[in-house]
Amino acid sequence: MQNPPSLGLIDQFHRKINYLRLSITDRCDFRCVYCMSDDMQFLPRDEVLSLEESLRLVKIFTSLGVTKLRVTGGEPLVRKNITWLFEGLSQIEDLKEIVLTTNGSQLAHHAHMLKTSRVKRINISLDSLDPILFKKITRTGDLDKVMLGINEAIKEGFSNLKLNTVLMKDVNDHEAIDLVNFAINKKMDISFIEEMPLGDIGHKRKDTFISNDEVLKKLQAHFNLIPTTFTSGGPARYWQIANQSTKIGFISPHSHNFCDTCNRVRVSSKGELFLCLGQEEKIELMPLLRQHLDDDWPIQKAILESMRIKPESHDFNLETNKPSVIRFMSHTGG
Ligand code: SAM
Ligand code: SF4
Repeated sequence: MQNPPSLGLIDQFHRKINYLRLSITDRCDFRCVYCMSDDMQFLPRDEVLSLEESLRLVKIFTSLGVTKLRVTGGEPLVRKNITWLFEGLSQIEDLKEIVLTTNGSQLAHHAHMLKTSRVKRINISLDSLDPILFKKITRTGDLDKVMLGINEAIKEGFSNLKLNTVLMKDVNDHEAIDLVNFAINKKMDISFIEEMPLGDIGHKRKDTFISNDEVLKKLQAHFNLIPTTFTSGGPARYWQIANQSTKIGFISPHSHNFCDTCNRVRVSSKGELFLCLGQEEKIELMPLLRQHLDDDWPIQKAILESMRIKPESHDFNLETNKPSVIRFMSHTGG
């Protein structure tokens, strides 16, 4: 066994990697039209990291200088024994920030557990306030349950709640202002994410793409927006709504490439370490975890070496009508 170098994870472009996004399942109770096809096939259980393996992996990443973890999926809160995982995570001292991305459907049941597990921030995906359109976009989702989840999280005292909205042209882009007003009412932040060409889904991405610049213009006509330098450690650029606590974030992989400040890597539910959401470079960690049950060094070494192949940037192209990356967002972890 060896001690890893204390410099931590630094890639070939001198970016320090201190943020891990961990997908703990590829399964989900929704089938959002921009994320999944309607006949999604999910991984057999033995091809998914166990929760014990996931926890071990987080400890290994923190030994290499990772201090922030986002738990994601698929839908992380549909994973069985999720409480066990969060309890374990909360005990990792070097992990300074635990955050979660969820569709909110199970949040009402888990909000208290998440609060006591020192989860700092929850991002809740919400693409429509209209129950019928919400169902159409998520294919299976129930807006009432998500609303219950949001209210429960507020009751638990989470002050760092954020909505994530993927706007699609002529589908839900007309709701941008209403969604911001909803966020203001709930004293939450909201981020608009440009749709990314990940996985082969039922529509042409080009047809539904709407640029965040266009959304910003629309919002500026209604709200007094002040640009800020605020960062939550992710790729969003934020604007403060004057006289409100709500900030509006824009995650714009197409119109504003954010790769030069990239500080993160992703691990899929089958233990693939993806160096970039929009590229194919990866290292398989599951075989190493299963081969070296009592020795972390081979896994640490593989992660350290992976820094050499972290790409400089993603390369999304809406024109080709083909996904830039074959895997779905739910596979890599959003
Ligand atoms: N199920 C959880 C949820 O929906 O919040 C977590 C996983 S989901 C993959 C994470 C985020 O990715 C969500 O906010 C979702 O809207 C976003 N997302 C999924 N597919 C996307 C795509 N093709 N382009 C942009 N955002 C996408
Ligand atoms: Fe599920 Fe989240 Fe993908 Fe929607 S965006 S299908 S909720 S994983």
